[in-house]
Amino acid sequence: MIIMKFGGTSVGSKERIFNVANIILKFNSNQIIVVVSAMAGVTDKLISLFEKYKVRDYLSAHSELVNLYAIHKLGLDDKSIHSLFEELNIYLTLCTEFKPADYDHVISFGEKLSSHLLSAAINSLGIKSNPIDSSSIIITDNNFGNGKALLDQTETKAKSVISPLLSQNVIPIITGFFGANLDGEIVTLGRGGSDYSATILANVLDASEVILWKEVDGIFSDDPKKTNNAIFYPSLTYDEALELSKNGAKILHPEAMIPVQAKNIIVRVKNTFNPDHPGTKIWKSK
Ligand code: ASP
Ligand code: MG
Repeated sequence: MIIMKFGGTSVGSKERIFNVANIILKFNSNQIIVVVSAMAGVTDKLISLFEKYKVRDYLSAHSELVNLYAIHKLGLDDKSIHSLFEELNIYLTLCTEFKPADYDHVISFGEKLSSHLLSAAINSLGIKSNPIDSSSIIITDNNFGNGKALLDQTETKAKSVISPLLSQNVIPIITGFFGANLDGEIVTLGRGGSDYSATILANVLDASEVILWKEVDGIFSDDPKKTNNAIFYPSLTYDEALELSKNGAKILHPEAMIPVQAKNIIVRVKNTFNPDHPGTKIWKSK
């Protein structure tokens, strides 16, 4: 079983979404579980939408909402997209306290939307897939904005939702970035948290491998988009990857290595724009 996570830029447009759908198709001989981030920039826009409602700037909030809707109206499962926007609009309209729980609830919509878009794209290519809301499978503590997974509870939930899908050859397209606490409230896992979602699922489902699909060839010493001197790492240990995620390279979520290191699950960081490049392999030894 392989867990594949796709980052925001990789699903940043209709064309990119179909590119991802085709990458998934190529791996389809394996059991695949997909974790998806919000489309590029969407989480930031949801944060700004929340802030505008909070200060009752309804005029700007409305135009932000219209803009977000336009980004997602791609002729892919428009009906679900429309109902998600209705749900978001109602939630914000009825929100009074704007608590951390409300914030997490609102910013989870980016992944809810992208999971429907990607699933629709895959289905249109003739492969069965279902969008899955991770609040039904990843159980977290109560740390809104920076939740940690409770692995035992998550294992039970994840298996009960995912196993029936896999046995019917349906690819689960799971929202990254959030789970829910024991009271069922949505808790986000920190910015860039979809990496962590993928490795949590790899741990509880005993996956053989995780592929973190990004928009660069793998892990570099520096941001390769900003400097020409960045050194490429073909392989890293979990500890080295963890160090790099702390050192501002910002390529991995700081919690993401913990669930895979615990079970020695191989992680690959690969590029959706250059899928034949081997990427960076993260493993216990070099
Ligand atoms: N969409 C979330 C963020 O922008 C999570 C992620 O991209 O991994 O932080
Ligand atoms: Mg993102």
